[in-house]
Formats: sequence, C-alpha cells, structure tokens
Amino acid sequence: MDSLTPPALTAPVEASAPPSLPQGPVCVQCGAPALVNWRRRLTDSEFADHLALERERRAEVRLLADPQRTPPAELPLPTAEELTRIVYGCGTHAISLEAAALIHASACTAPNEADLPSCDCVPEVPVKEPLEGTAAELPAHWIPGGP
Ligand SMILES: [Zn+2]
Ligand SMILES: [Zn+2]
Repeated sequence: MDSLTPPALTAPVEASAPPSLPQGPVCVQCGAPALVNWRRRLTDSEFADHLALERERRAEVRLLADPQRTPPAELPLPTAEELTRIVYGCGTHAISLEAAALIHASACTAPNEADLPSCDCVPEVPVKEPLEGTAAELPAHWIPGGP
C-alpha cells in the first residue's frame, strides 16, 4: 500500500533580527545611537591594517585573474592622506558643527567630555572638490517670489 506521508509542514522561520544587535552606528563614547559623525585620520596601525587588507585583496584578484590575459595595470596603494575614518557621537557627545566639518588628527580624542564641544587636536580643513561648471539657473517660474 501507499505509505507515503505528506511532508511535515514547518512553520515559517521568523525573520526578525535578535534584539541585541545594534541598529546602526553608535556613539564611540557611550554607545548610545549616534546622531552626528565626523572624520579623523587613521592611526599608523589602522593604516597598516588597511594596507594589509588591500594587499590581500589584490593578491586574491591576481590569483583569480585569467592567466591568458594581460593583467590590468595596478593602481597605486592608497596613502594615509586619502583615508579617513568616521567617528560617531550621540547628542550629548557631539562636537560642534564647525569642528565636525573638519578632518581630525588620528590622535584626536573627541568626543572627550573634557573638551566638548571642541576637541584636543588641530583639525585640517578638507580640500574642497572643484565644482563642475556653474550651477544651472532655474527657470524664473521655479524661483519662489519670481514672476
Ligand atoms: Zn555618547
Ligand atoms: Zn579633533
């Protein structure tokens, strides 16, 4: 006789994330959800780690490359000048808006409560990207208060 049994029905797995996982960036000082962020330079060891990862990644690309083809010219490795790290702060541990617009030194301790809303480094002014052309002018009827 037919002894086939219908497959056991399993309840759909609930796709909810465990509640212990953080929901995004958190303040580096107190762990509260971050409200603001700014950039700082990498420390020497962070930069070394970054270079090591980049070298590893490139070695893997070379390994997987088609040996029949000439490999593409390799880009120079990133320099410390072009890398920054994002620092997150909550509302309480937020540096000033002016300070957050700058790039901080790798040794900057912000957000350090003793220095808030400032910090203990002399931040660099980021180099502004040159704007491509000039902003296109809006039609007159798009300007509030225009004709
Ligand atoms: Zn905080
Ligand atoms: Zn700083």
